[in-house]
Amino acid sequence: MFQGIGVSPGIVIGKALLLDPNDVEVRRLKVQENHVEREVERLRGALHRTKDEIFELKRKVSSEMGERQAAIFHAYLMFLDDPTLIVETSEQIRREKLNAEWVVQQFLERYVALFEAAQDPALRDRYVDIRDVGRRLIRNLSNSKAETLALLDKPVIVVARELGPSETAQMDLSKVMGFATDAGGRTSHTAIMARTMEIPAVVGLESLSHRVKNGDILVLDGTNGTVACNPDKKELALFRQKQRDLQAQEQELKRLRRLPAQTKDGTRVILAANIELPEEARQAVGRGAEGVGLFRTEFLFLNRNNLPTEEEQFEAYRLACKICHPHPVVIRTLDIGGDKFLSHLGMASEMNPFLGLRAIRLCLAHPYIFKVQLRAVLRASHFGKVKIMFPMISGLEELRKALALLREVKQDLQKRQIPFDAGMEVGAMIEVPSAALTADLLAKEVDFFSIGTNDLIQYTMAVDRANERIAYLYDPLHPAILRTIQGVIHAAHQQKIWVGLCGEMAGDPLFTLILLGMGLDEFSTSAVSIPEVKRMIRSVDFSDARRIAREVLELSSSSEIREYLAKAVSFKLEGDHPK
Ligand code: PEP
Ligand code: MG
Repeated sequence: MFQGIGVSPGIVIGKALLLDPNDVEVRRLKVQENHVEREVERLRGALHRTKDEIFELKRKVSSEMGERQAAIFHAYLMFLDDPTLIVETSEQIRREKLNAEWVVQQFLERYVALFEAAQDPALRDRYVDIRDVGRRLIRNLSNSKAETLALLDKPVIVVARELGPSETAQMDLSKVMGFATDAGGRTSHTAIMARTMEIPAVVGLESLSHRVKNGDILVLDGTNGTVACNPDKKELALFRQKQRDLQAQEQELKRLRRLPAQTKDGTRVILAANIELPEEARQAVGRGAEGVGLFRTEFLFLNRNNLPTEEEQFEAYRLACKICHPHPVVIRTLDIGGDKFLSHLGMASEMNPFLGLRAIRLCLAHPYIFKVQLRAVLRASHFGKVKIMFPMISGLEELRKALALLREVKQDLQKRQIPFDAGMEVGAMIEVPSAALTADLLAKEVDFFSIGTNDLIQYTMAVDRANERIAYLYDPLHPAILRTIQGVIHAAHQQKIWVGLCGEMAGDPLFTLILLGMGLDEFSTSAVSIPEVKRMIRSVDFSDARRIAREVLELSSSSEIREYLAKAVSFKLEGDHPK
């Protein structure tokens, strides 16, 4: 049994197929003076071919998996187009009179080392992408064919040392039952693609590809992150049983999709989805989401060299509305800064970007960018049910500035007779402690609140949300966090406005009862979590959830709370089955 990291859930049993993408051995060769220019030309030709191939893959992935998955290939094209690559490598070829393969390989190794040294795990995982595009370039240079698996005849479990997105995208995925790789992390693009295609996958298996032979029987468990090789009959029967149980659970969750998010005694809440690109709303609606509770619009702004136009934004917002109709879409205005940057804006580097010119602060500092977005959102509101909310609000004055700009844009549209929904709801995200503490004041100015616990926890606990070393402090069940959430819900209800929660906390069934009991009106989470959360909601009486919330709020530490909740929740999970 090999233990790795499960990155795409599900159990599959099948034959192993080994794929070794490192098939080109690169040697250091001297070239004669009069062949140096030919070498540079060869490199240019290979760059062209690689770009053509990537372009083709981008098109394929975009139509099969959606724009978001295809965006990685946009980054590949930018890398291949980066003048540093061609300038540095051709200079070295000329200066040292070396073959192009060797020089390119050296360049790639330097590049990969930069990523491998990165602190941020998501950035670190990008080294796989650089190696992927690099292997393709070197293959094209040396005219060697890759083992593409484009034409598989039987279903297999693909085993590889490492798999890049372009290698994954090229496979006939209808024949791939699962992926198992020695390298890679949760945020690698291959992991993301596997999740999109709902193919079980385990990464980080270290030496699996050396220990498995073609045709070995593998049991891959993408939920627990294990791979068993040639299990005996008894073990195999156990795995088959587990697989059947999982499938039965899936069926049950599918059934749940059509049922309302309502407690046993009839208290109704809204379960909505978080999306980053409009097409994702489709999967969300398919999983039973009643609209979108958080559209993170910054993803329309990332991975490009310019700002999206009003028209582009309008089309994206309108598409999300169309998919969700008749349910609403809550569009969050641009949240750049923190860990997401636009290099072309020439933003000054900051000591503490999470405490810096981020989100609404950046928008108020660049009203031109903000107003274009407000116009696009307002125009889309004519075509569906749109609500808008501002991220990182820290207090009343900031909120009023944002509202004033919104009024200005509305007046301008009115003057130009461009239609929009004059009654569009406006909300404030509550994710900064100062906003939570003045929620009673903010509630008078908006139609709703959306609690962003991802940031609220980081700012309340003074713990960087992406720092693994202090992750133990990042705890949604800390009494300070629960009291804050309770206070915000109370302040909202006093003013008769509704309140949602759109941080990761909304998607964990362990927290559902307590949030429900505190009176939360809307849960917004990633599409995959919706059925589980709904199941939890449907398993209780509202009065029980209220009692649980009350009792939890009297406990004094996260560990006591966790213990209490685990008991309440396991009783629910094993006991009642929702009707
Ligand atoms: C949050 O902070 O909880 C949130 C939903 O926003 P983001 O994760 O995009 O910062
Ligand atoms: Mg946030």
